[in-house]
Amino acid sequence: MVTETDALIGLDQVELLHLRDLVTLFVHGKRFYGIHELEIDDYMKVAVAAQACLLVLNLDAAGSAEVYPGWTSIILYPGAFVARHDYRDAIGVVHQRILALDGEASRRGPVVLSWEDARPGAEPHGAGRNVVLHEFAHKLDFLDGTSNGHPPLHSDMSTATWAAVFSAAYGHFCGLVAHGHHTPFNDYAATNPAEFFAVVTEVFFLAPQRLQGAYPEVYGQLVRYYRQDPAARRAHHRR
Ligand SMILES: [Zn+2]
Repeated sequence: MVTETDALIGLDQVELLHLRDLVTLFVHGKRFYGIHELEIDDYMKVAVAAQACLLVLNLDAAGSAEVYPGWTSIILYPGAFVARHDYRDAIGVVHQRILALDGEASRRGPVVLSWEDARPGAEPHGAGRNVVLHEFAHKLDFLDGTSNGHPPLHSDMSTATWAAVFSAAYGHFCGLVAHGHHTPFNDYAATNPAEFFAVVTEVFFLAPQRLQGAYPEVYGQLVRYYRQDPAARRAHHRR
């Protein structure tokens, strides 16, 4: 079991066993491909799987035969990779831009990761960042067909409350960025609501107190969505 990643701090024995079951399902259900002669070994598979499965630990995935259903490929690059993206400008002209990425996810397509950034303990962009948690949060967001920062919620949750809490926090965060103020986490969250959800998921698992302090209502919605309370389990872990 991968233990070096901070995201797993405070999980109890029952949760770790459950995570191990999910990891086994994940590794059997997905196909891993290494690019640029990157040799994929079991450690790499388990490392990615453990981080990905942490998100769905309490999302009833164990009842199904597949974790993150509907797609199969995980592509690992040794480091950052270049992607070409087409986009249409305001007057309808299509442009291409070239981006260096550490991860990418689409609805039905593969999850693409830079192993340098995805391996446990890697925090090349600072504490509280995790590309695996980020890309798999996008995969959860895509479950209702669109990536908009609003994944399908549990029946005991209110979509109106989620939308109100997230749009208020997103608006506030974008204001901080626009005015050059200090932000509680990665400014990339201001890109759009989908990126905000993916970034706050990283912070939720890796620096939960920071998210709790900055946006307590967002933290509360994520506790109800992920059915986990990383701040509480860390506090308990320290006692
Ligand atoms: Zn993203």
